[in-house]
Amino acid sequence: MLKLYNTLSRKKEVFRPRIDKKVNLFVCGPTVYDFSHIGHARTYIVFDVMVKYLRQKGYNVFYLQNITDIDDKIINRAKERKISPQKLARDFEKEYLEDMKSLKIDSVSKYARATEHIKEIISQVERLLKKGFAYRLEDGIYYDISKFKNYGKLSKRTVLQAEDAVSRIDESKEKRNKGDFCLWKLSKLGEPSWPSPWGRGRPGWHIEDTAITEKYFGSQYDIHGGARDLIFPHHEAEIAQMEAISSRGPLVKYWLHSGFLTVKGRKMAKSLGNFITIKDFLKENPPRLLRLLVVKTHYRSPLDYNEKLLSQTKKELERIDEFIDKCKNRSVRKSSGRWKSCHGLIVRFEEKFEKAIEDDFNTPKAIAAIFELVNQGNSLISRNKLSPTEAKEILNVLKKVDKVFNFIFWEKSKEKIPKEVLKLVRERESYRKSGQWGKADKIRKKIKELGYWIKDTKDGPKIKKV
Ligand SMILES: [Zn+2]
Repeated sequence: MLKLYNTLSRKKEVFRPRIDKKVNLFVCGPTVYDFSHIGHARTYIVFDVMVKYLRQKGYNVFYLQNITDIDDKIINRAKERKISPQKLARDFEKEYLEDMKSLKIDSVSKYARATEHIKEIISQVERLLKKGFAYRLEDGIYYDISKFKNYGKLSKRTVLQAEDAVSRIDESKEKRNKGDFCLWKLSKLGEPSWPSPWGRGRPGWHIEDTAITEKYFGSQYDIHGGARDLIFPHHEAEIAQMEAISSRGPLVKYWLHSGFLTVKGRKMAKSLGNFITIKDFLKENPPRLLRLLVVKTHYRSPLDYNEKLLSQTKKELERIDEFIDKCKNRSVRKSSGRWKSCHGLIVRFEEKFEKAIEDDFNTPKAIAAIFELVNQGNSLISRNKLSPTEAKEILNVLKKVDKVFNFIFWEKSKEKIPKEVLKLVRERESYRKSGQWGKADKIRKKIKELGYWIKDTKDGPKIKKV
């Protein structure tokens, strides 16, 4: 029975989707004005693992993520770079999607850009005005937080406490309450804008999420995820918007928030010189290292990225690789009657693994179970007591686990081998198949000159850098 910690109730609750096994899940996507850093990667790895697990358990998950492609930060950065905000946003969106692909974060069903949902955003603002939850000022339309009686239920803040909060958007001094936030910002000259009943303008930050989720999910859905710094004001504002519009609640059944990532004990900041983009990380390290590093910590706990953690995690990957190799070698041996198979290893592992995950995604415990399996397996192998069948079963169970985690079996990137070399390898194969050994050998030499050598195995040629 899967239990999730719901920020709304501050309790672990049994997970039951609103309808059967259908799960509608939304996670706040990036504001595309810069490269994504490893803190972003943490959030998106966490939700990628959750979605993959739910799918493996037979849930039909629709995973929606927005892309904030219009925002003050984008406009300001574009000005600095003397390019259009749209070009800047598209460029960084591309970088973001590339980073996600490198990290095998491939569970998102749909990415939805804010600028492609202006019609839905305007419709929400209109309904909020009509219902008396919004008002107009000279520079835009604002949400009146004092009108929504449940304001603060997620962050446990009152309207007065909300007044201390600084919102991301510059706001008018004439607001009714200091915590009121902008829904539609009338544009200044030269800024990107869209026509609306109130004049040309652009959406506030919070409204894009509810406009997008209402379009794909309706006024209520199952899970909303994001980093914990988004609880206030962002997610609180989403509740206020959508529940006021629909007069229905809750907007979201389970609110899940991931913890912060610090670097050497401090918040990541460019000024501190400890800002690590995903691209920086991947220049030095394989992507699966980041995935393991993230899931080793519980998703709600703080994660401190430092040298020690990095080297420990590297060693763990090596240990698991060695074990996999041993299991592979063993699994191809002939099975004979002399093996007293089944030490109950796999059954115990699967039980432990599932119990850990089902307890609010306790991935560190699940990882510990994996390494326990590795230790026990290694000890059996060293005593020559692991049967080929069991080795095969271990590989299979780890493959299943890895469909969720994606850090164990990671095919070595083929992109690193130049196309020219791959073409020669194919050519050589065709000569070999037709018995033209001389020609095949010439090509092998050519390939070697290019810095690669070929090893012929029964699964076909393996290419390696010399
Ligand atoms: Zn959001």
